[in-house]
Amino acid sequence: MNFEKSKQLFERACKTIPGGVNSPVRACRNVHCDPVFIASAKGSHIFGADGTEFIDFIGSWGPMLLGHAHEEVEEAVIEALKKGTSYGAPTESEVLLAEKVCEALPSCDMVRMVNSGTEATMSALRLARAVTGKNKLVKIIGGYHGHGDAFLASAGSGLATFSIPGTPGVPQSTVQDTLLVPYNDLEAAKEIFAKHGDDIAAFFVEPCAGNMGLVLPVAGYLQGLRELCTKYGALLVFDEVITGFRVSYQGAQGRFGVMPDLTTMGKIIGGGLPVGAYGGKAEYMQRIAPAGDVYQAGTLSGNPLAMAAGLATLNILEKADYAGLEQRVLSFVKELVSVLESKGLPVQYQHIASMFTLFFTDKPVHNFADVEKASTSIFESYYKQMREMGIFLSPSAFETAMVSFAHTDDDFNKTLDAAKKLKF
Ligand SMILES: *Cc1c(COP(=O)(O)O)cnc(C)c1O
Repeated sequence: MNFEKSKQLFERACKTIPGGVNSPVRACRNVHCDPVFIASAKGSHIFGADGTEFIDFIGSWGPMLLGHAHEEVEEAVIEALKKGTSYGAPTESEVLLAEKVCEALPSCDMVRMVNSGTEATMSALRLARAVTGKNKLVKIIGGYHGHGDAFLASAGSGLATFSIPGTPGVPQSTVQDTLLVPYNDLEAAKEIFAKHGDDIAAFFVEPCAGNMGLVLPVAGYLQGLRELCTKYGALLVFDEVITGFRVSYQGAQGRFGVMPDLTTMGKIIGGGLPVGAYGGKAEYMQRIAPAGDVYQAGTLSGNPLAMAAGLATLNILEKADYAGLEQRVLSFVKELVSVLESKGLPVQYQHIASMFTLFFTDKPVHNFADVEKASTSIFESYYKQMREMGIFLSPSAFETAMVSFAHTDDDFNKTLDAAKKLKF
């Protein structure tokens, strides 16, 4: 494929935008190549600025569960657009979307709209601290909750309980209240509560880890966290920014039957426009200003275009055949794995609903330490060859492939045909 136009745009972009991109992973540095600039997208296909065409498995990193430029979503946004784009005063569409979300997610009585997943988790943390009167938060090693300072902590020198800033610019004082534990390790969670239980405001977890590649919860893990949080008076926060409306219309909480105290949302809920949200039991959410004393605000929060896109998306998803898509994706993934195995590659896969990750390792993956053992060099070669053959994958070994309702069997077959031509 010829990427000349993308190359030119990227060179220009690097002069006025740090690293040429507005979010780091887009730059494709993990796979040592330049990004493809996108001109448009429709359904399961995405079109590059170079006149190229790809089958898209990024799905804008999660939002596009219906596929790109879905007609009903498009119409709803155009309709809203004609009425003005922002008022700074409440609208009916905010009420409708809030009702829709609370109806779908069993643990949410009330919800507050924000503009991104990052804002949702930052605000949920503030609320959890206010509600409990405690300061510490526990997060998962390799879990991602947006780029809020408190979440950008790394495990220091192998010691899970000692956090260091995950990036320059985050003070030690900000992450000293962030405790880290490995995913799927209930013993580690018990230990951290035994040691710090009096100070822990919240346990943040992606119910299905999606930002270390996809890693599913082992049986009893989420339930165990629920019991621990209840025992120690900490709030259990499910970060459902990816899993909300994807692993089921009722989110991971509905699917696994474990109820968090607070839920953070994003991605799908905005139907491709910038939206985040956090919700939970009324007794907690009533603490948010102006109902209560915990300040949180936003000039563009509940934006009418974003609400229209979100509402149209949920209206369709409410009736969508999640089970059917899950089955189709599972058989596709199994075939893809067997094609790769037939080339002598070690492959583990994780799959749920319309998301999956292939890990190039022969050991099962249950947490970040397992994931890190997977080969990034095999992934890089896989990524580059697939892209050359018109298959658009996340440019990192530790991301989740997002399939949409728009993906056809023809898309899956073409992807498998491409995989058959891979050389390692
Ligand atoms: C994407 C993501 C976020 C951050 O959302 P943004 O809209 O990118 O700020 C938070 N949590 C999880 C689990 C995510 O996948």
